[in-house]
Amino acid sequence: MLTLIRSAHLLAPEDLGVQDVLIAAGSIIAIGTDLNLSGSIDISVIDGRGQYLTPGLVDTLTHITGGGGEGGFHTRTPAMEFTDAIVGGVTTVTGVLGTDAISRTLPDLLAKAAGLEAEGLSVVCHTGSYQVPVRTLTGSVQQDIMLIERFVGVGEVAIADHRGSQPSWQELARIGAEARVGGLLSGKAGIVSIHVGDSSERLSLLFDVANQSNIPLSQYYPTHMNRSPELLQDGLRFIKAGGSIDFTASHTPEILDAGEIKCAQALKYALDRGADENRLTFSTDGHASLPHFNKEGILQSLKVGAMDAMLNEFRDAVQEEGIDYSIALKAVTANPARVLKLNRKGRISQGNDADLLLLDKDSLALRRVMAKGDWCLIDGEHVKKGIFDR
Ligand code: ZN
Repeated sequence: MLTLIRSAHLLAPEDLGVQDVLIAAGSIIAIGTDLNLSGSIDISVIDGRGQYLTPGLVDTLTHITGGGGEGGFHTRTPAMEFTDAIVGGVTTVTGVLGTDAISRTLPDLLAKAAGLEAEGLSVVCHTGSYQVPVRTLTGSVQQDIMLIERFVGVGEVAIADHRGSQPSWQELARIGAEARVGGLLSGKAGIVSIHVGDSSERLSLLFDVANQSNIPLSQYYPTHMNRSPELLQDGLRFIKAGGSIDFTASHTPEILDAGEIKCAQALKYALDRGADENRLTFSTDGHASLPHFNKEGILQSLKVGAMDAMLNEFRDAVQEEGIDYSIALKAVTANPARVLKLNRKGRISQGNDADLLLLDKDSLALRRVMAKGDWCLIDGEHVKKGIFDR
C-alpha cells in the first residue's frame, strides 16, 4: 500500500512550503507539488491541508526500561510502552540506563529495545550507565559499540552529581577515546552521553579533557544543560568549543522552583547569545525518575519523565518564545539525528524513513503520527499499539 499525503506544509525541518509526500514500504519515496499517480496501484490519500508535516521526533535520552529508584526499590520507575512515545510524537528513542546499573542491566535494555523496535519504533541504545568504570556487555566500550549493532555510544555517564562515580578527567578521556575509536571503526556516532548533575564543578572535567588530551569536545554530549543559569553559561562555552548540548524537556514544578530553566526558554536564551542553532537539542529524559532533593541531600519527591515533553517544549518554543518554526524543530529532529549519526532520521527527504507528524497549523496540536510508514495515532486514537498498551 502506498500513502500519499497531499498539500501539507512541509517543515523538513526547513520550510519547504506546501507539497505532497509519497510513502512506500516505510520510506519517503517522492516529494513534490501535485504528485500524480496513474494505473491500478492501491493508494491511501491523506488530506494534509491546514497542517504542518514534520519529521518524527528523535529522542537522545530515554530510560526505556525505567530508571531511578533513589527513594528505595518502590520508587524504581516503570518501563515505557510503545504509545508513551507515540503520544509525544517521538518515533526514534535512545535507550539508556541511569543511576542503577545493578538491578537494571544491559541485556534487559537491549531486549526492551528489540521489543519496541518490533512494535514499530526505531530504537538505538548506549552501553554503560552513570557508573565509571563503565559497565559493558562484552568487556569494553569499544567492543560494545563495534560488535553490538544497537549500541551507538556510551552513557549517560554522570559528572558533577552525588549519584555518579566521581570520575577524573583522565577516566573521561579514556571513555571518550574508546567510544571514538569504536564509532570510527563501525561508522557510528560513538558519542559519550554525559549526565550533568547540580554540583558547582559543572563541565570543568570536560574542559580539562579538551585541554589536556587529544579527544575533541564534540565526542561528548552533555545533557540536563538547562538545570541552572550557570550550567547554561558553561553550555554556551561548550558549543563555542565545538560541541553540542542537550536540554531536558521533562520538568516538575519542584525542579523549576529549584532553578531549572524551561527547555524552550533555554533555547531562546542560547540563540539570543549567538549559539549555533545546529548544536542545540531537546530530549525527553523519558521514564527517568525526577527526584527533588533538599539542601541536605534528602529526597523530597519523585516523579517520572514524560515522553510528550519534547513536543510540548517545541510548541512553547514557537508559541511562547517566538522562535522560528524551523529552528525550534531542528532541536527535536535534525540536530539529535546528526548527534546520533542516524542518517535516515530527523529530516523529510527522499529515501529517509517515513517517520512523520501532522500538526494542526494554528494550534500545533498533534493530529497524526506515522512511524516507519505505519500510522500509529490518528486524531487522538491509537490505531497501532504495543502488545501491553492499554
Ligand atoms: Zn541524566
